[in-house]
Amino acid sequence: MKKINIKQDIINIPLSRNPDTFGKLDNLDGDLKLLRSVIDNDFSHIIITDNNGHILYANKSSEKITGFTNEEIIGKTPTLWGKQMPSIFYENFWNTIKEKKSIFIGKITNQRKNGELYEAEIKVSPMLDNNGEIQFFVAIEKDITKEKEIDKAKNEFISLAAHELRTPLSTISLASEMLLRGIVGDVSKENKKYLKTIFMEIKDMAEMIEKILDFSQIEMGRFHIIKEPTKLFDIIEKSIHEVQANLKNKKISLKKDYKKNLPVINLDRKIMKIILENLLLNAIKYSPKGSGIIFGVEENKKNVIIKIKDNGIGIPKKDQPKIFTKLFRANNVFSIKTEGSGLGLYFVKNLIEQSNYKISFKSEENKGTTFFISIPKN
Ligand code: ADP
Repeated sequence: MKKINIKQDIINIPLSRNPDTFGKLDNLDGDLKLLRSVIDNDFSHIIITDNNGHILYANKSSEKITGFTNEEIIGKTPTLWGKQMPSIFYENFWNTIKEKKSIFIGKITNQRKNGELYEAEIKVSPMLDNNGEIQFFVAIEKDITKEKEIDKAKNEFISLAAHELRTPLSTISLASEMLLRGIVGDVSKENKKYLKTIFMEIKDMAEMIEKILDFSQIEMGRFHIIKEPTKLFDIIEKSIHEVQANLKNKKISLKKDYKKNLPVINLDRKIMKIILENLLLNAIKYSPKGSGIIFGVEENKKNVIIKIKDNGIGIPKKDQPKIFTKLFRANNVFSIKTEGSGLGLYFVKNLIEQSNYKISFKSEENKGTTFFISIPKN
């Protein structure tokens, strides 16, 4: 059997830009017919468009997912079921696939013919000819509405459970504090030691419950963003203060590369603290003892750019595209025996997107990592 060179053979399929003749692939030999039938029947919604986005081919799932018939789809653009996202999303989308000629991967909300909104993961790849010109775009879309609903139910349960735990925990905390302070009678030195342990553990547990609550709210997109004019300097100093103990434990020095008169920006303080503390704690966790971290801030006309640079273990190149994915931890973290959940960066990315900020990073294994956050000034 002839081996299929998928990319080459697809490019060589005698495609016509005329929607009437596109897809009439009867002259193909066995292997390609098989390939065509696989694509036709794939669970994902697959379309091929010309370089202006006009649809030349749509598989069967496209009809099932969008609700439009093949006749209604061919010749149109994906705006038929699109147009639900903010314009910045589409600007970035077209810029990626048409200007940069790169692959776009992302999540999108679309609308079926019956008006129902659905969520999908999309991957759009430009197909280039030998001169590097775009010939077609291939878009693969997976409907993730069901997964999202299950996730939502799971999060609602977690949120409810965390809420329910809050009240008894604060009662236990109060009772142990009263005992510890001798308010209800003398406590021996030995017993005080145990009470102190109970009190500290409850405090940690309460903090964890708050975190779980925050995370479940973020996941459900219900984390209320309350932006107010905030001195960036103050929020940075507070975040650094929160991680002092961790810095001290690993004898890591933190260089502050920013001035005192940083601008006042409209931002949500709680969110900014979560973002900065997560990045700082990671920088500490993945750095060797005695190393250094630089916290820098730069400004241009429109944005403030925060940089957190470490000299730690770095992120292996092959793991870099997955770093913001839920529960993902790179392979090299296991060699240094660190605790972690792979959730921090996932939530940071979530918060950054909800706040309209941008996050990026550069990293080299065994050399270090720098995270950049860009925040609009207005
Ligand atoms: P974790 O709880 O594992 O730290 P995160 O979501 O915060 O989870 O980070 C995901 C993964 O990204 C980490 O497990 C690690 O592989 C990598 N990572 C994040 N920050 C750094 C860093 N500063 N240096 C090296 N690797 C990092």
